[in-house]
Amino acid sequence: MAVDIYEPIINIKGIGPARAKLFGNMDIFTVNDVLWFFPRRYTDRREICKISELQADRSSVTVATITNISFKRSFRTGIDICSCQAEDDTGAVSLIWFNRKGLNNILKEGTSISICGLPLFRDGKIEISNPDFEVMNDGSDVESFTGIVPIYPSTAGLNARWFRKFIRKMLETYLHLIPDYLPQSILEKRSLQSVGDALWGMHWPESEEHWKVSRKRLAYEEFLFLQTALVLRKERLRRSCEAVKISSDGCYYSRFMDNLPFKLTASQKTVFNEIFKDTENGHPMSRLLQGDVGSGKTVIALGLAAAGADSGTQAAIMAPTEVLAEQLYSQAQKLLSKVGITCTLLKGGQSRSERVALIESIRTGETRVVVGTHALIQDGVEFFDLGTVIIDEQQRFGVMQRGEMLSKGKTPHLLMMSATPIPRTVSVCLFGDMDISLLRERPKGRKKIETRLIDFTKIKDLLQFIINESTAGGRVYWICPRVEDEITNELVSVEKRYTFLKKHLGPLGIGFIHGKMAGDAKNNQLEKFRDGTTKVLVGTTVLEVGVDVPEASVVVIESPERYGLSQLHQLRGRVGRGDRRGVCLLLVNKIEDDIAERLKIMLKTDDGFKIAEADFLLRGPGKISGLKQHGVAGFKVADIFRDSELLKYAKEDAEFLVANPSTFSKDSKFAEKLDVFLKDSFNLLHKA
Ligand code: ADP
Ligand code: MG
Repeated sequence: MAVDIYEPIINIKGIGPARAKLFGNMDIFTVNDVLWFFPRRYTDRREICKISELQADRSSVTVATITNISFKRSFRTGIDICSCQAEDDTGAVSLIWFNRKGLNNILKEGTSISICGLPLFRDGKIEISNPDFEVMNDGSDVESFTGIVPIYPSTAGLNARWFRKFIRKMLETYLHLIPDYLPQSILEKRSLQSVGDALWGMHWPESEEHWKVSRKRLAYEEFLFLQTALVLRKERLRRSCEAVKISSDGCYYSRFMDNLPFKLTASQKTVFNEIFKDTENGHPMSRLLQGDVGSGKTVIALGLAAAGADSGTQAAIMAPTEVLAEQLYSQAQKLLSKVGITCTLLKGGQSRSERVALIESIRTGETRVVVGTHALIQDGVEFFDLGTVIIDEQQRFGVMQRGEMLSKGKTPHLLMMSATPIPRTVSVCLFGDMDISLLRERPKGRKKIETRLIDFTKIKDLLQFIINESTAGGRVYWICPRVEDEITNELVSVEKRYTFLKKHLGPLGIGFIHGKMAGDAKNNQLEKFRDGTTKVLVGTTVLEVGVDVPEASVVVIESPERYGLSQLHQLRGRVGRGDRRGVCLLLVNKIEDDIAERLKIMLKTDDGFKIAEADFLLRGPGKISGLKQHGVAGFKVADIFRDSELLKYAKEDAEFLVANPSTFSKDSKFAEKLDVFLKDSFNLLHKA
């Protein structure tokens, strides 16, 4: 019999428009959605006791018959009270419910009910308040009440008991009719349950072990579909071999290298090798470069752009903020223009005539390297021949924006750079279709940034420290959480702190910068700080990404508890970039245990990868930007950390499946399900 598990729920007996609407509120539209709507938790009702066996403070299930019942309303409080006496052959219990509407229609003398609740022993009597119950003589069996019973997330106005029964009914009707869509060989190899068994076990596990194996199967399948999609995309890219060949043999590139004011680190050399190995062979590169703050990613970007110029094609370097774009551009001028490569900067706020001229030079190919913000992906910007796309701080861009940038060329090479290290398990999920390069090493001579937690009682010492530091040639960032002062808000604003520091440290020169300032004003402030006119720069987290002033040696971060650890690490990475050792001071109102506990990792390590892991564990992947739009946080079952082992297997199996043509044969259930899966949860991934 052909069963359609995608049957709309409204076609099911017992579901009218009203209920269907309530289901809709929970995103349940088909039978399949019901089967995949999992309990939030479970209550253990495996033990069935006689009344005489009930124990205080231990929740158990009893079956008893009502012998006496009364319904009252409290005059004083207006609360409805239902109290009754129920008995079995070993004794009696008193049951009481408060404010449960409609009980008088269900409970009567002689009704047999199963009850579950916490017994209270008082004056030789047993009492249970607000027990969960089910009426036994209306055809239900103890079974759907006992065992490990699912508790579903808020059921949006549907009666919880009815809901539970309904789902059980759907499972009973449909499960055995779903054929497994994962290849048998894989089920065996990974000792996975069939999909039917696993769904049953998610809703009605017989034991914790049963729940675990059920969950494992479903988590694995989520990983497998995602990985298969990623491997497919990678394959597709590899097969389209029309990208321009870019190598390290050209003269721009070698002049660029000769001109560098420093020697490349071993890590940087490795990354260049990895990049050219891709780009030399004419396949479009798709690579993610992960490097901790200050590991020297910019040089990599510019080196690739120089080699791109040798190939006769253009390179676009896109950055998320104007400040960053300016900074990249000034580096490009130093390292690229100097060796004869024409560079331009395209950003918001440029005058119309300026913009027209810039766009024209990009269109004719006169400009070889274009640095810019989102302005690069606007309509009207056309490239003569875009061979390379480089995206800095890629985590700040959405999938669509990356896609738009790529579509400005035929099949450009793509290098995405990220300073927020992502734990390996996560990057496999997000970037399984890309190759990954790591810059683990920082340029020589960098010392560990000394990090300390202090509170406001130390403010005098802190001011003195800043004076000493500035006189000795250092410079100070002071990060505040807010721009304007709001009376109700105790967080210190940039303005307020600026005024305060001006008063106490005025002669040092105090600047300020925040997101609401116009681009020019921002740059002006940054310039003054760069050239030393101001020694202290008060700002918001605009300073977080990529800002590079080598003299900066101290960063004070107020209310550090407001930020994620990776973000703090980014902020901290603004200092210690030049010769001076860096100091990071986390300034809290009061040192409290829980705050200190979380910030401890900052004091212990400056390995961005370790910090990122800790951050992910503490805050969960949902909070991390970019994860959501990739659908990774949208897994129903899988957990990228808890199930990292499974993820590894799924990746292996996905590669095997993609290499095996029968996987996508015409009657392949797997391929069919993969399509559905992609449409359901990962449609953004599809488009990118
Ligand atoms: P990030 O990886 O955070 O983008 P940057 O590319 O801004 O780091 O580099 C940080 C600083 O280190 C810059 O001032 C840069 O000039 C310098 N730098 C990069 N590579 C080296 C190197 N091999 N040796 C010395 N200094 C370097
Ligand atoms: Mg950078």
